[in-house]
Amino acid sequence: MRKFVLAAAAAFFASQAVAQAPAPPKLLVVISVDQFSADLWDEYRPQFTGGFARLASGAVFHNGYQSHAATETCPGHSTILTGDRPATTGIVVNTWLDQSLGRSDKYVYCAEDETALGSSSIDYKVSDKHLRVPTLGDRMKAAWPAARNVAVAGKDRAAVMMSGHHPDQRWYWDGKKFATDLTGIAAPAYLTATNAAVQKMMAQPQPGLEPPPFCAAKSQPITLPGGKVIGNGTLARAAGDAAGFRASPELDASVLALSAGLIAEMKLGRGSAPDVISVGLSATDYVGHTYGPGGQEMCLQLLDLDRELADFFAVLDRSGLDYALVLTADHGGLDIPERLRAHGVADAAWVDPVLRASDMGKALGARLELPGPVLIGDVSGDLWIDHSLKASDQARVLKEALAEYRAHPQVADAFSREQITNTPMPSGDPVGWSVIQRLRASFDPERSGDILVVLKPHIMPIVDISRYVATHGSPWDYDRRVPIAFWRKGMSPTEHQESAETADIMPTLAAMIGLPLAAPAIDGKCLGGISGVACPTR
Ligand SMILES: [Zn+2]
Repeated sequence: MRKFVLAAAAAFFASQAVAQAPAPPKLLVVISVDQFSADLWDEYRPQFTGGFARLASGAVFHNGYQSHAATETCPGHSTILTGDRPATTGIVVNTWLDQSLGRSDKYVYCAEDETALGSSSIDYKVSDKHLRVPTLGDRMKAAWPAARNVAVAGKDRAAVMMSGHHPDQRWYWDGKKFATDLTGIAAPAYLTATNAAVQKMMAQPQPGLEPPPFCAAKSQPITLPGGKVIGNGTLARAAGDAAGFRASPELDASVLALSAGLIAEMKLGRGSAPDVISVGLSATDYVGHTYGPGGQEMCLQLLDLDRELADFFAVLDRSGLDYALVLTADHGGLDIPERLRAHGVADAAWVDPVLRASDMGKALGARLELPGPVLIGDVSGDLWIDHSLKASDQARVLKEALAEYRAHPQVADAFSREQITNTPMPSGDPVGWSVIQRLRASFDPERSGDILVVLKPHIMPIVDISRYVATHGSPWDYDRRVPIAFWRKGMSPTEHQESAETADIMPTLAAMIGLPLAAPAIDGKCLGGISGVACPTR
């Protein structure tokens, strides 16, 4: 069925005139693989023979960085095509707390319009309003009105943050179908075909994938606290299982099929100006959260995605388009403590539940004789002090909470918002940034917490493992380091050991297509030493 969807896109292309465009490329295809750490890239690179292998034959930075501390999907995607770090994009966390909000749900989702009637942080009205800067697509359209800016993704926040404020088409998987937040646009014909094909695919059970020897060697069942067994799965799915569909190669295959269909139907790359399509491949993240990134399941996912990408690129090749590819990720990930310990990472552990903001707030409230939740948030990252407390009590809570968190053996450090805002914005090589500099790069005074808690490396910040067993979000390099690769037909391969930031992708692509970067100024820089990219002299 997946092959069928892509075959339909290929047939669509065959009916169109084929034109060979001269340099610069006419179409930029920007691929983000959610939770694809540089550790996974390095480990699997010798196994790739398909689409990832093609990207590996271009200009490869395996020391790419989402340089900030808040290594989550929304902040990460906000850096990829804006040229800015989250402190500048304003997308500093997936969901933040706004205690002044006039609704019972005080959380705000990063890609939400919380002023829309009926919107909540869980069931939200999708919007780009929180993104404070333009994207590459926005800038291309400002410079060249004929340019098109398109996004397709498994997650709305990936599609929104990569396409920004002026998309021509923007489609994301909403759990049942590909949907859009845009109004007044004509839905492409290919969308209807894709949604129908995906519905049909989901209604059928999916047998497990046959593990090749490299994956079978990773098949070690691990029984987690509570009895869940992971590590030896084959990504089989029951009929109609929407969560299973998401955490399998089927979601990415559907996103790639819709992307290919939109490229054909909109004739992207065949206009008078270059076009950009952002492709958000989210299944790797769901597989990582559901099974951890270190088992047979992730192996099957990545090798299947390698094949799916090969098919997608083959469709583009046959169309005769002159396109350039970029691959990166929004963040990396941490494997489950049991498997890490089995591989010699002795300090890997589940987080101590007493670190939950709710537990800590209750304890502090009792000790300081204060009512209410006192502290609001998760087990690490941004925590907020209850703003209904009077200022002097908030100050007492801040002092006590910082001391409590810092004293806990699983906590690396805890900082007040004042400490972070007093830290100058970091620049230069992100490898050597201190923890507080990493925090500064994803801090926004309006949206970030009052206290920022950083757990020690390899502490998994999940208390309830009934839904997810592994995650990301720390300032450590397993979450920060991601691959960055550029590919274009005929380019000379280059291997880069020096670090690069995902914020460097946008100015590099701008140089590739000859787009002058108008104001506002950006955090990133054009990456030198890439075949076919002439960075502007500064
Ligand atoms: Zn994730």
